[in-house]
Order: sequence, then structure tokens, then C-alpha cells
Amino acid sequence: MTGSADDVLFATEVVEELRAVHSEIAALQAKEVELMTLLYQVRRAEQLDLGVGELYAGEDAATEIGIALKVSQRSADGLIGLGLGLEHRYPHTREAFAAGRIDLSQVRAISDTLTNAPEDMLAELEPRLADYAEKAEPQRIRRTGRRWMLEADPEGQALRRKEAEAERFVSVRAADNGTAELEGVLTAHGGRTLYERLREMAVTECCGSDPRTMNQRRADALVALADGSGRLICQCGKADCPRLPTEPVPAPRKTLVQVGVSAETLAGLQDNPALLSGFGAIDADLARQLARLAKIELIPENPTAGMTSESAGKPSESAGEIFESAGRTSDAPGQSSTAERIYRPSARLTARVRALDGTCRAPGCQVPAADTDLDHQDRFDHHNPDTGGPTTESNLGARCRRHHRLKTLADNGANRWQITHHPDRVVEWRTPSGDSTTTTPEGTPFLFPSVPVPPVTAAGVPDVQPTGSLLDPGPLVNELMDLVQAYCTPSQRRAHRRARHNM
Ligand SMILES: [Zn+2]
Ligand SMILES: [Zn+2]
Repeated sequence: MTGSADDVLFATEVVEELRAVHSEIAALQAKEVELMTLLYQVRRAEQLDLGVGELYAGEDAATEIGIALKVSQRSADGLIGLGLGLEHRYPHTREAFAAGRIDLSQVRAISDTLTNAPEDMLAELEPRLADYAEKAEPQRIRRTGRRWMLEADPEGQALRRKEAEAERFVSVRAADNGTAELEGVLTAHGGRTLYERLREMAVTECCGSDPRTMNQRRADALVALADGSGRLICQCGKADCPRLPTEPVPAPRKTLVQVGVSAETLAGLQDNPALLSGFGAIDADLARQLARLAKIELIPENPTAGMTSESAGKPSESAGEIFESAGRTSDAPGQSSTAERIYRPSARLTARVRALDGTCRAPGCQVPAADTDLDHQDRFDHHNPDTGGPTTESNLGARCRRHHRLKTLADNGANRWQITHHPDRVVEWRTPSGDSTTTTPEGTPFLFPSVPVPPVTAAGVPDVQPTGSLLDPGPLVNELMDLVQAYCTPSQRRAHRRARHNM
């Protein structure tokens, strides 16, 4: 297709305008980063004055930004870090960014590349790289920057490598649609080792009829290494598959996950969504797959379920459970008023509060409740437990370390946050600048739909794992049946529960 001279001219104008808009956005991004950094510095100064430690002063600025802009605290953290770098280490980059000559991705490439550069090298290379960045995309900035650093100081490279290696990490976080995202920095050798092993497993442990792509096999291989089985199992489904293991494969180890799922769904009678702690809602099939590998502990949704004949007549209302596959033991159910005056909650109450809250209760925080502290919302009084906040379900909330610190500082009047607890576990977070947001619990009982979803067969969607029998028969199935069958009496349930605790 050939365009007329007018079309060519028009397209050229469009590109020109695009360039101008991109530059404006970049300049505004620079402004945004600068303002976030400024807020951090203001909060930090305030808190240092109030005696908050160097390590943590100002850290809640990112939470405050998250509430104000509806962005993740993680992204605010990243931009504040970048802003501090621009201010203290990368003045030329900062100037080019503010003028809209380079954009955020290019700035990140410069900052990442020069992270471990010593001051004298920085003085020479940072202006050059900032110039170069105006004509190069992020990938090329990184490559060129690394080469320049190596040329400038070949001996120092070993040292910088060690420093870079010291930053190694692996993180796993929840992503969309029940997947997880893995991110990390390894040593070059470690990275090679891992990749070679995954490739080898993907190629040698599955035959040509395995339906998975190489990408999928490598991803599954990593999990197989982590779960201790160490072996991919070919999914061609043929009994005479040439790649079937010749020696017994160790059973996958049980991981610590909390899943909230209705008994009916677990038993395959319904397909209600379930809740995976830290991930949110997952589909019924995935919940059942997890259940197959799990060591299961039942925590009834309603703590008094099974205690009254009324609830026994309405089985679906008491059918939410948490199974927790690392098998924590529970102590006896029920709270006495003595327990309310003891600071540390019982294992049973801890599990219950974590099941209710699902994740850390701070806005936008994704830390799974299993990894949180249980915080007394009204402060516990160690000197006089009768007058302070009690150790009860309604007075305990899940908070990650960082947001536990935020709450403690708020209690001490050291950061001017106001955290208010409303009925039904609604928590209101008011920032020092007056923005406010409320969070509702995301635990099992709150995400369960009350309308049953009939079982569906997902035609054309191949299962990740071959579907075997749903659950091993045994006490667990008996117990599930107790929960889903209407004729089960409360005393039968109690008897079952007693029998299980005595096992
Ligand atoms: Zn095969
Ligand atoms: Zn948190």
C-alpha cells in the first residue's frame, strides 16, 4: 500500500506529536517522583523528631501515597527509592528526566546499571550515560552502561560483582487469575545452574507427547525441585511412556497454604469459588487440586457451628473451612474470659483471626495473613489486662511487620495516622494528610458467595494435573460428609471433632 503525499505528511505530524506527548509525560513523571520523594523526606523528618528509629522513619509515606493515588505501596516504594537516587547520585539523569528528554524506563535503566558504581566512577559515567540514554532504549542503556563500567575499572569489576551479588533475592507474589509471579536476582553461576537444570528436566523427563510447552515444563520443573519430588512426570497419559520414572519419586512435600473452601465444593458437589490466602479468590478446581496435596485441618466458618440444632439443620451455612497443609495443631475451641486477659492468643483464635482477615489489613497490602502478626486493635495493657483491649476475635487483626509498626507508631502518636476499628472488622485508615480509606476483611467467610454455584465441566480447558480420585477416603471424607449432610446431629459432629483431636 502506498500513501499519498498528504498521508505521508500527516503521519509525520502524528509521530512529531507523539514525541511531544511522550516527552510531556516523562516530565510529569519526573515531577511525580520528585513529589513522592519530598513527601517521604517530610514524613521522615517529622518522625525522626518524634524519636522513630533511622531504619523505619518515613517508611509509611509509601502507604500514604498508595492510599492517595490508589497505587500499590510497592510501586510507591520503588519510585521513592529512585527519587532519592536521582537527588543524591544521578544529577544529570535527574535534569534530563525533568526536561522530558528521557522517560521513566530509561531513568530506571541508568539507575539500575549504576547502582553499585563507586562515587568517582559515577562522576565520570553518569553524565555520559544520561546523554547516551537520550538516543537509546532501556536495554541498550543497560548493556552499554555495563561495558563502560568494565572498561573504566576492570579490577573493580570483581568488587562490583560481589556487591551486585549481595543484592540477590527471590520473591514470589500473587498475580492475576490464581497465578504467582516469580522474580529474582541470582549469581550468574546460580542462574546458569538453575536454567540448565530446568531445561534438562523439561527435555529429558517428558516424552514428545507431553502436551505442555517447554515454557510450561520449565515452570513445573522449578516447582518439582522445590517440592522435593525433583522429577517432572510426563503428562502424555500413556502407560508405556518411555520417560516414566524408573525409580520411585518422593512424594511432594506439603507447603504451608491456607485455603478457604466450602465442604460442598471440596467434595465436588458445587463449584463455589474458594479463597487462597494472600492470592484472593481461586476457582473450585484449583482448590481441589491443592486439597489433594494437603494435610487438612478443618476450621468451621462459624465457631459455634455444630453446637446448636439450628445450625445442624442448615449445613451450607456452617460449611466454610480452612485447610492448612502444614498441620498446625489447634488447642481446644472456646475462649474463656481468662484467655481474653492473656496477651498471646491461643492457636485456635490465631487461626480463626487469620482466616477472617485473609491478608494484612492495611490498604493494598498483600501479605498473606499466615505471615502476619496478630495485633491488638485496642492496645493490650500488660500491667492491667482488665482495663486494656482484650485478646478476642474482634479485637485482633492481622498486620504485616511494616503495618504493625505503622499502627504502633499511630498508637504512640508518632506518625499522625488514625486507625479506627468499626463493627464487622471494617478498618479505617486516615493518613496524616487527611486521606482516608477503609479495608474490609478478605478472609474465607467474607468472600464466599451465599448462592451455590452448580458444578461445571470446563470443556477444552486441560487440567494441569491428571485428575485422580478427589480425596482419599478416610476420616476426612467422613468429616466432610458430616458437614454437608443435613441429618448429621450436633452431637455427632462433636464426637467426630473429639475423635480427631484425640488422634
Ligand atoms: Zn510421555
Ligand atoms: Zn501490611
